[in-house]
Amino acid sequence: MKYKSCTKIEHGINFDINSIKLCCQYSAKGGGNTIVIDNFHGGNINWNNFFDFKNEIKNLHKSGGLYHKCEGCIYLEEQDWEESDKFNFFNLDYWTYCNCNCIYCHTHNKKDIYNTKKNYDFLPILKDMIDKNLLMHGGDVSFGGGEVCLLKEFEECLQIFLDYDYFVRIHSGCMDYSKIIEDGLRKGQVDLIVSVDSGTEEMHVKIKEVKTFDRVWQNLTNYANAQQNKELVKAKYIVIPGVNDTKEEINAWLDKCLQCNIGYVLQEIESQWFYSRRDHIPFYIYELFDYTKELASQKGLIYGEYERAAHMLAERVQKQTEFKSV
Ligand code: SF4
Ligand code: SF4
Repeated sequence: MKYKSCTKIEHGINFDINSIKLCCQYSAKGGGNTIVIDNFHGGNINWNNFFDFKNEIKNLHKSGGLYHKCEGCIYLEEQDWEESDKFNFFNLDYWTYCNCNCIYCHTHNKKDIYNTKKNYDFLPILKDMIDKNLLMHGGDVSFGGGEVCLLKEFEECLQIFLDYDYFVRIHSGCMDYSKIIEDGLRKGQVDLIVSVDSGTEEMHVKIKEVKTFDRVWQNLTNYANAQQNKELVKAKYIVIPGVNDTKEEINAWLDKCLQCNIGYVLQEIESQWFYSRRDHIPFYIYELFDYTKELASQKGLIYGEYERAAHMLAERVQKQTEFKSV
């Protein structure tokens, strides 16, 4: 049956720090971030409750309605969705420890709490899902959370997903280097997203609050040299208005990417700034994004907008259209 939905509603699951959600999207106008099971700290999952909740949303969408939290989400699309309760889209961000201190992170300056917070184990849950025949072959998984290289069960979980032919998206600060990530990049089964947010050492220290500029770019270079194709290693730049929102810093970032053999760049907008001003985005921010896109393409780099930026730019188009039609 054809109706409006998204891969997360249909076959997705997000294991978060203290809950299980449909997705980890906050960028939709409706707020996204739908919690299905709250206060989850590992162990058995009541799958009947989980599927009942999902089916309510699916039935609403089948009847032409829209779940309020999904309003305005760019991931909604109309298509003939496969009727199955099995999963093929995982977002994993259930741990918080990390080895840097990004000024925009929810853990910023609370490292004593988040670097010692014990996470639940996902590996037994994944194995149980396989026993219950809930895991589809072929799909996507995204590792987010804190620093993935510090997560003890990372390699074992990754191997299971690779065995099930998943494409694995890994977010890392790149302060550490992982041979298993390098292997995945070489085989073309992994892509790696690293938020560098700067092109100069001064800005790196200001944003990350650690002196790791050379180490991060050296690790990125090694990953980039191993990747099967130039679309796999992605250097991301989160624009933080008032901090790194200059063309000079963007120029330095793009030059550094070229120097380090990176072929794909991503741009994002800082979350707290965006959510508090999404209806009044100053023109210079749009201009900065346009400038970056143009310059990246002139330099032969693939350019993409990350989730909030994609919503921000989609809303700009809508506003222009609305304005013109008045
Ligand atoms: S907020 Fe977007 S991604 Fe999340 S479930 Fe709703 S439509 Fe899907
Ligand atoms: S790398 Fe990620 S988890 Fe670590 S401080 Fe930065 S934003 Fe937070």
